[in-house]
Amino acid sequence: NGEVSSLVDGDLIVPLPQSTDRRWSDTSVYARKKVLQFWVQLPSGNWELGKVLSTSGEESVVKLPEGNVLKVISETLVPANPDILDGVDDLMQLSYLNEPAVLYNLEYRYNQDMIYTKAGPVLVAVNPFKEVPLYGNSNIEAYRKRSNESPHVYAIADTAIREMIRDEVNQSIIISGESGAGKTETAKIAMQYLAALGGGSGIEYEILKTNPILEAFGNAKTLRNDNSSRFGKLIEIHFSETGKISGAKVQTFLLEKSRVVQCAEGERSYHIFYQLCAGASPTLREKLNLTSAEEYKYLQQSNCYSINGVDDAERFQAVTEALDIVHVSKEDQESVFAMLAAVLWLGNVSFTVIDNENHVEPEEDESLSTVAKLIGCNINELKLALSKRNMKVRNDTIVQKLTLPQAIDARDALAKSIYACLFYWLVEQINKSLAVGKRRTGRSISILDIYGFESFDKNSFEQFCINYANERLQQHFNRHLFKLEQEEYIQDGIDWTRVDFEDNQNCLSLFEKKPLGLLSLLDEESTFPNGTDLTLANKLKEHLSANSCFRGDRGKAFTVSHYAGEVTYETTGFLEKNRDLLHSDSIKLLSSCSCHLPQAFASSMLIHSEKPVVGPLYKAGGADSQRLSVATKFKDQLFQLMQRLGNTTPHFIRCIKPNNVQSPGLYEQGLVLQQLRCCGVLEVVRISRSGFPTRMSHQKFARRYGFLLLESIAAKDPLSVSVAILHQFNILPEMYQVGYTKLFFRTGQIGVLEDTRNRT
Ligand code: ATP
Ligand code: MG
Repeated sequence: NGEVSSLVDGDLIVPLPQSTDRRWSDTSVYARKKVLQFWVQLPSGNWELGKVLSTSGEESVVKLPEGNVLKVISETLVPANPDILDGVDDLMQLSYLNEPAVLYNLEYRYNQDMIYTKAGPVLVAVNPFKEVPLYGNSNIEAYRKRSNESPHVYAIADTAIREMIRDEVNQSIIISGESGAGKTETAKIAMQYLAALGGGSGIEYEILKTNPILEAFGNAKTLRNDNSSRFGKLIEIHFSETGKISGAKVQTFLLEKSRVVQCAEGERSYHIFYQLCAGASPTLREKLNLTSAEEYKYLQQSNCYSINGVDDAERFQAVTEALDIVHVSKEDQESVFAMLAAVLWLGNVSFTVIDNENHVEPEEDESLSTVAKLIGCNINELKLALSKRNMKVRNDTIVQKLTLPQAIDARDALAKSIYACLFYWLVEQINKSLAVGKRRTGRSISILDIYGFESFDKNSFEQFCINYANERLQQHFNRHLFKLEQEEYIQDGIDWTRVDFEDNQNCLSLFEKKPLGLLSLLDEESTFPNGTDLTLANKLKEHLSANSCFRGDRGKAFTVSHYAGEVTYETTGFLEKNRDLLHSDSIKLLSSCSCHLPQAFASSMLIHSEKPVVGPLYKAGGADSQRLSVATKFKDQLFQLMQRLGNTTPHFIRCIKPNNVQSPGLYEQGLVLQQLRCCGVLEVVRISRSGFPTRMSHQKFARRYGFLLLESIAAKDPLSVSVAILHQFNILPEMYQVGYTKLFFRTGQIGVLEDTRNRT
């Protein structure tokens, strides 16, 4: 610890890099070992390998690869691994487990297209942003036969299938990462493998075809990802007793509705709009009165119509084929496209002032008449729904005329609702088509592809929900990998130096506590007719400042300390997005339509329809007048999800985005490091290594290796047999621990016994 360094026999004895790298306790074991190379952090923040030329006092002189010589504080040098460990496929194998070593190892592999690396039980996937020769039937075959054992999504999927069958426990594959990190691609790769191994009935094709459909309707080009999922997805794939796929079920979370009516410069709305405009047949165009994407206001505002390398017309054909495969009839498909066209035309509806109080009415033009025709309603009723609002006050109904901003809101709300209902309707159709057959065994593998943690310059309600979800998932991850691990040691009476890990319960309580938590207060304020984004912000500051994860900021902002970092949220729009009201007039309009989709949408909305604000609007209790807020619905969904995942054996995949420009071959250390920290990869490796990862009950151990004993102690209890085996094989005391019920071994220890057993 902080000894003075000196050169002995040409090797260097180094002080621990305590000051910078205190968390890597395992370095102490190696601190006095011979280290030839060190990681030196340059002013840019990047790490480079360096050789120490000399050390005096607190400082060392190091030589960098290009020949540059640098004087640094010795304590900041981080020991590097010997070359022989370059590119190991599990970070656990590294002798020095520090941040630069992990970064370097991933980069080394990445440069050779080995984008997958294990971090103990977790698979790390670094997005290649190009085609890599790792997929397809021959690779699937190699993993199935286990002739290829390098880390891969296929290997994870394979383990999931085997464990599902062996343990008779449902499995889950939980994929996380930032936008653009590769979650959706990874989920598809996993599905590919499951379909290949569990295929046969044909249902696997249907399952794979849900991807192009959901991506067309739920993905969009954003500044971060040309194919960004704007919803979360859980797909549960069911298997029969014989391990064949018998059906599947898709659940979606929180579709970003606002994108339908507005999106930022350079981004696009949902792919399907552009695909329809580019790919519809002349007959369909005429039926829907369809023009080109450039003619629609909703699509015009972001000034971006195409994606490099993507042919929207071609994609449209693929989507219709996929719809055929999941049994959406041609008739229904046409209704779906009519709804899309109606949304586009709604955006073109404009308003004129009709009186001197600035009340407006929609212009009677092509847009208005086309919308009416497409949804099958009377044009006057549409006009009314977009210019007036019926309000119930006690027992009277009063009619309020709308001003321009109110009318635009009503129009946009209608467009968003139609689109969201359409999306959920499609998911429902898909689920009907994939419905698990009668011969279900209840065994399933679920794949979760859900938006990662988001922190932008401006963060709104969407980020608030997304980050809350990530906070929950992080807890699941923590609980699984850390807490369970620790508890197992403690329960078995093992002396194991407690490893601190960040528990995020405090932050979760900030969100979930009743009645004084972020979600409760948000819902409460949403029920107040006079509640505004400012009163919400003030209320949060008044009640939550005691929680160390919360900080009130100026004006309408507040900051939450998430596990992955601080995020400042602007409450602007929070109440409206949370209330998500569609006025009863619009619902009535839809239910009066002659087309079946709008009717179906209206009835699905009526279940949660709004009623005049009397008393707590969002109180639970199931009465149809009580509409749930968006945040509460989301929380309920999330709780259900966590409960479901809680009954499965989880497999975690962490996707990493190596650069922000979606370009191959570019690996930015700082960006990767920040993601590795956020998703807990570094902690996982450290904890797994510092513990005793191999465990076996006394009974099993005695049964398995007892026959190798030279003296017969058959009459003895399993514990005595086990101890005798350990002694006979000279297993070093520091390499194992004897618990109340189990034996715990350090990595690799059981190998000797297995080898002997297999030879005998
Ligand atoms: P979002 O949260 O925005 O939905 P995501 O994590 O789902 O992002 P993906 O859409 O899966 O990200 O990946 C973004 C892009 O990265 C893909 O469109 C593809 O070009 C590339 N990509 C990801 N994984 C791979 C892979 N394994 N091989 C080749 N390219 C990949
Ligand atoms: Mg995605």
